[in-house]
Amino acid sequence: MALIVQKYGGTSVANPERIRNVAKRVAKEFDKGNDMVVILSAMAGVTDSLLRLAAEMAETPDRREVDVLLATGEQTTASLLAITLKNMGYPAISLLGFQAEVVTDCNYSNARIVDIGANRIKTLIEKRNIVVIAGFQGCDADGNITTLGRGGSDTSAVAIAAAIKADKCEIFTDVDGVYTADPNVCSKARKIDKISCEEMLEMASLGAKVLHLRSVEFALKHNVLVYVRSSFNEEEGTMLVNGSHDYDMERPVVSGITYSKSDARITLKKVPDQPGIAAKIFTPISEANINVDMIIQNTRAGGQTDLTFTVPKTEFKRALEIERKVAEEIKAEAVWGDEHIAKVSVTGIGMKSHSGVATKMFSALAAENINIIMISTSEIRISCVVEQKNAELAVRVLHTAFGLDKE
Ligand code: ADP
Ligand code: ASP
Ligand code: MG
Repeated sequence: MALIVQKYGGTSVANPERIRNVAKRVAKEFDKGNDMVVILSAMAGVTDSLLRLAAEMAETPDRREVDVLLATGEQTTASLLAITLKNMGYPAISLLGFQAEVVTDCNYSNARIVDIGANRIKTLIEKRNIVVIAGFQGCDADGNITTLGRGGSDTSAVAIAAAIKADKCEIFTDVDGVYTADPNVCSKARKIDKISCEEMLEMASLGAKVLHLRSVEFALKHNVLVYVRSSFNEEEGTMLVNGSHDYDMERPVVSGITYSKSDARITLKKVPDQPGIAAKIFTPISEANINVDMIIQNTRAGGQTDLTFTVPKTEFKRALEIERKVAEEIKAEAVWGDEHIAKVSVTGIGMKSHSGVATKMFSALAAENINIIMISTSEIRISCVVEQKNAELAVRVLHTAFGLDKE
């Protein structure tokens, strides 16, 4: 007998038939004597359509009210699953984020979980209830409804699994597990049976949306046993491995290719090359709570330089407005923005001890005539910004170049 947390994503609960399928899977585990906590996403496409509705009402809809609206997507599926289970004769109960005591900070649309008071969930489990919880949502200290950022119900699941000390947390989605690249983009991608949390963190932060970044952080920090599996078959899926384990010595240096279209770039032309200028450019951006990812500065003649950086597309307009003011103040010549970029990355722990990965990446992209706009590296990854239209091709080319294609 185990305490199991299962999370089902949007495609897994996209219609009544699929919700019935989820109910059957949950009931099967419950019948074996396991205690079950189920976290749900909204039906596929619902969060997007709610966002479109909000955008029809206002150009920049109030962020608090957007979260109240978005939370309804998960409220719908949680209640529908509980209704289904009860109708099948099972003792199910649905809880919204605040009822499950998921406490977050007050950063609407991208809130962080700060605490989960697991008492209510535990009491319900002790009475042998199947507890169905609306994912993606929480509540701040003042009682306002918050949401955790797109894809955030993975984080709800792993955080709740940590809080109730579940034996395992299964993330059910529409692919068989974590692959060497998005299998919907690269048909030659291979399923990975075991992936280290360190590599998964890197892949999630670089755009592999199969797991929400913060869910991997929770898994790592609280030692939660996480599996990524398909809700449409009985395959084993991918296991997240925490800490060191016996890695295959023949492991490829590069273990995954990822891409992300979620950033935009901003360039300040002919900035005076003086101490204090970078601080003037980036302080107002950080004060506005906007995350900067890559930064490149070119040295130029005549005491002037160009400076380029990337921000999330969702913050592009705000960042551009801020930099237009900064540019006036520091007497930069112009500010440019470009939303049509993508970041393509190769990742792998093996890169720590191997050289030549960057050269191979640049050559493979060059061979397909894909221009590199920006480059950044860490110990276990190399990322290149390319034109957005080249993103998918770049993923496939790199997947082949690094020998990851399945036979
Ligand atoms: P869910 O609604 O179940 O949370 P998501 O759409 O958020 O599902 O995540 C699953 C999707 O992640 C897959 O359909 C796939 O296209 C995409 N994906 C991106 N990178 C990867 C990868 N490396 N491995 C598996 N899936 C990936
Ligand atoms: N429904 C939310 C989204 O579409 C959360 C999630 O699916 O994890 O982003
Ligand atoms: Mg998801």
